[in-house]
Amino acid sequence: MPSSPLLPPPDQRVAIVTGAADGIGWATAQRLAQEYGHVVVADLRPEAAEARARELGAGHGWQACDVTQEGPVRALVQDTVARFGRLDVLVNNAGIGEQPVMTLEQTVEGFDRILAVHLRGTFLASREAGRVFVLQQSGAIVNIASIAGRQGHPGRNAYGAAKAGISTMTEAMASEWARDGIRVNAVAPGYVMTELVKELVAKGALDMQSIEDNTPMGRCGAPEEIAEAIAFLASERAAYITGVTLPVDGGWLGFGA
Ligand code: NDP
Repeated sequence: MPSSPLLPPPDQRVAIVTGAADGIGWATAQRLAQEYGHVVVADLRPEAAEARARELGAGHGWQACDVTQEGPVRALVQDTVARFGRLDVLVNNAGIGEQPVMTLEQTVEGFDRILAVHLRGTFLASREAGRVFVLQQSGAIVNIASIAGRQGHPGRNAYGAAKAGISTMTEAMASEWARDGIRVNAVAPGYVMTELVKELVAKGALDMQSIEDNTPMGRCGAPEEIAEAIAFLASERAAYITGVTLPVDGGWLGFGA
């Protein structure tokens, strides 16, 4: 497998994971820390991000960052490059769950919030990282789409639209940067047992039994299973893959619900 001469050894590479204090983001930060010397845990809550970076150990960092805000996102990327000298991987993971709400009841504020965290957040962080990657002529972005972006379901208007948009944005950015040594891919998780899903189940907005019944493999995914796919797409093992959205869903999109 050809290795880019532009890349330093893995222990000198740098990754940012947004929304990394919990769930899939935290599993991803831990997985990437097995390969890369510097992982920056970015999250809304500074204490949580700092504690997670401490758990990762020496060489790793953290930054408080609301991905919907241009200034903090710019600072996240610029501070990372100032501290570690480069950037190799961006994982746009930050996201919020949506209490299912029918279109006729949906507020403009609720709709805008979902789009802001998922779509604007992914755009802002990718644009900042892209500026660094173009100068380096190397870099990888992994976005988090969803099975909800491929199938519209009642009450999932904004969330589904945002996740479909992330897949399209992935293709657009991949095609813009394909000749700059930059790859952009996405994973589309099925239902994964994280706080986001536990909260919706507790509120009665999701039914665990029907999730298990409708998933061909008969179970929810684990955050570590999504993190493994993210780590693969971020790595040189996926050197000839760009612009794809990879379902990691226990068979849901292939032959499930
Ligand atoms: P969690 O709620 O467990 O973790 C999400 C993290 O993102 C939290 O730490 C949260 O902080 C943080 N976050 C939320 N908003 C922002 C923001 N504006 N800026 C920075 N950080 C933010 O969610 P999951 O791990 O389940 O989800 C991760 C991603 O995976 C999301 O994009 C989600 O849409 C996607 N996904 C999840 C699926 C699942 O079944 N769990 C299925 C398909 C996709 P805080 O806790 O403070 O809000």
